[in-house]
Amino acid sequence: MNSKEQFAFEKVFLELPEQLKQIPNLGEVASYIPELSHVNPEKFGIHLITADKQNFAYGDSNEKFSIQSIAKVLSLTLAFKLEEEKLWERIGVEPSGNAFNSLFRLEQEKGIPRNPFINAGALLICDVLVSRLNQPKEEFLDFVRELVGNPKINYCERIALSEKEHGYRNASMVNFMKSYNNINNDVEEVLDFYFHLCSLEMSCAELAQAVTYLSSDGMNLLTQKEVISPSKTKRINAIMQLCGFYDEAGEFAFEVGLPGKSGVGGGIIAIHPLKYTVAVWSPKLNEKGNSYRGMKILEFFTTQTASSVF
Ligand code: GLU
Repeated sequence: MNSKEQFAFEKVFLELPEQLKQIPNLGEVASYIPELSHVNPEKFGIHLITADKQNFAYGDSNEKFSIQSIAKVLSLTLAFKLEEEKLWERIGVEPSGNAFNSLFRLEQEKGIPRNPFINAGALLICDVLVSRLNQPKEEFLDFVRELVGNPKINYCERIALSEKEHGYRNASMVNFMKSYNNINNDVEEVLDFYFHLCSLEMSCAELAQAVTYLSSDGMNLLTQKEVISPSKTKRINAIMQLCGFYDEAGEFAFEVGLPGKSGVGGGIIAIHPLKYTVAVWSPKLNEKGNSYRGMKILEFFTTQTASSVF
């Protein structure tokens, strides 16, 4: 990045504390998975890594939280890598316009999920990985640990169990897809894998590092190894742009202007291809299920630095 950009980024990070004071901490912490409601709603962290490996951080950026649906980007990456183009015979790439846990379109479209980021699509991706991996939970964890460069990244069994105990809709989606022969494995095994990947705990610093391949044509900035090809990277970023924010992908493109993915733990990752990855965390969610302050701060950031993709 050039010195003008560097100056702009430094300036915005210095202004963050003042800016945060002006953004009321609106919204609610997710409570439909009871274990998620125990988080401190005042937490806030952000970490940004540029393609030339500069780091900018503020707040609780090293504190771990439940990454929830952000894990769907990582599972899609591994499934796409293993399955290649065959993947798209069983799943679409269109925005849904419905809630993330809606069954409505699944029935209309005969068990083919609209995209890999709504729950039905992420569950199908889990089915792909259960077929492809000998020990899905362990091997997926190894994949994530290598992306981050931290062998201690782990699932949270407490959260996985809480999801299982309240996962009636997810169970109904897998069963429904199975009735259309679009799930090949045992329903319980697919669900168990899905609940675990949603329960992954990572900090903003770890998340921003994990997805550096998405801002670097598929190459992990830490290991300098190719995670996926440049063409697959482009496609995953495209799906994030169109489908990464539940029923609010348009609003995120409009306000922030970056491909990204959110989770109901209050985390958001966003990517500027060939420029940077950023992860932000603030647990209170707006009514669409996206982090309220997370979105506002990313909007502030891309506006002040003039660095959206549009
Ligand atoms: N594990 C959550 C669920 O399936 C994921 C929610 C999310 O972050 O979108 O309900």
